[in-house]
Amino acid sequence: MKQILFFMVAFLSWATAMAQTSRHVVLISIDGLRPEFYLDPSWPAPHLRQLKEQGAYARQVVGVFPTVTYPSHTSIVTGLPPGRHGVYYNAPFQAPKGHWYWEDSAIKTPTLWTAARKAGIRSGAVMWPVTVGAPIDYNFPVRRADGDEKTDQLSVTRPFITPAGLLDQMAAATGTALTAGDFKYAEIDHTIGRMAAFIFRQYQPGLLAVHFIRADHEQHEHGRDAPEVKQAVAAIDSMIGLLLHSIRETGREGQTTVIVTGDHGFVNATRSFSPNVLLKKNDLITGEDWTARFYTVGGSAYLHTKKPGDLAAMQRVTQLLRALPEDQQQLFRIVTKKELEAIGANPEVVLALAMKKGVVANNAIEGPLVRKKKLSGAHGYYPDFNEIYTGFIASGQGIRSGTSVAQLSMLDVAPMVCRLLGIPSLTGEAKELPPIFSKD
Ligand SMILES: [Zn+2]
Repeated sequence: MKQILFFMVAFLSWATAMAQTSRHVVLISIDGLRPEFYLDPSWPAPHLRQLKEQGAYARQVVGVFPTVTYPSHTSIVTGLPPGRHGVYYNAPFQAPKGHWYWEDSAIKTPTLWTAARKAGIRSGAVMWPVTVGAPIDYNFPVRRADGDEKTDQLSVTRPFITPAGLLDQMAAATGTALTAGDFKYAEIDHTIGRMAAFIFRQYQPGLLAVHFIRADHEQHEHGRDAPEVKQAVAAIDSMIGLLLHSIRETGREGQTTVIVTGDHGFVNATRSFSPNVLLKKNDLITGEDWTARFYTVGGSAYLHTKKPGDLAAMQRVTQLLRALPEDQQQLFRIVTKKELEAIGANPEVVLALAMKKGVVANNAIEGPLVRKKKLSGAHGYYPDFNEIYTGFIASGQGIRSGTSVAQLSMLDVAPMVCRLLGIPSLTGEAKELPPIFSKD
């Protein structure tokens, strides 16, 4: 009986997935989006609040481990955790300095882009991570120069833009050509908003994904609640307004669903912990050679072993950590291999540290184990507390107005987009979706 029920549920979800409810889904990610941005009226985000009031929203969204930008954005468009989709961190472990996971070929599972193309739905993306070479019809990806953050983004990215003439068409349509200066932090979200509005107005793709980035940058620099963060949120909100305006201009408003979500929240940190100092002191790292070393990403640290799956090294490191003074042990929690498997983290890792709020891990191998530092914002933490959660709003076609849910998983976003666009589940598995959809 249970099996029959399962097949019925699977069939019904498949059948509803096949009926397209929205002709267009605009998927907006605000890097470092915290739910307060739309829940608390003291944040300058009138468009977000309007979308929330007209549509549905979640009070919090639980992210993936680590709660960092590239793995999270890949989870948004695959519906799977990093351990399954293959983008484990922002940059591969031991990649040359500055080489991040730029290329779509790093993703091991189907994405919204591959599914849209298969279904004959055109897609667009602006600054969405891990999209160099992706099957996206109108794409301005992120690609910086390896080991050279100073080179302007525009000239490095230009060869990877699809179609090649996209920016020329934009210049012809808007009367101004983008320049390197448009990609500086002060201007970047304005540029992203203009590109997204142009792509929707000009091509009306069925799926348009847009990634705004400055709220993340300002929270890293100044902490969670600095004026600079509010200024960045205000600028992003106004660009969302521009994008909504371009949707109205095309007359497609009634056939479009707008989703706003993010990749992680933020934590204010004032202390840092350097676990590789401990490993070096105990000869697990010696000069260029190493038996085990931590790869740190802010709020977490991942133990890699030179010999894959070296359990003896893992046990040795566990002993060393357990032998630290009590006040140092309180700076982190050990995440076991079993827990890493359950949450879907990098399968090569044998143990991880989930840092406590207010503490970040760093890769230093020299100097003190624990340091005080100037207040800054951080993420990368284990996704199990308020500050690190991100948010979600959906509004427009197919969304039941006036609904809210307490909590969503980041892994719910891709199945919701599939349902709206009437394309099959990316994982081939049926998934129960949150009750935010309208009946018709
Ligand atoms: Zn981010």
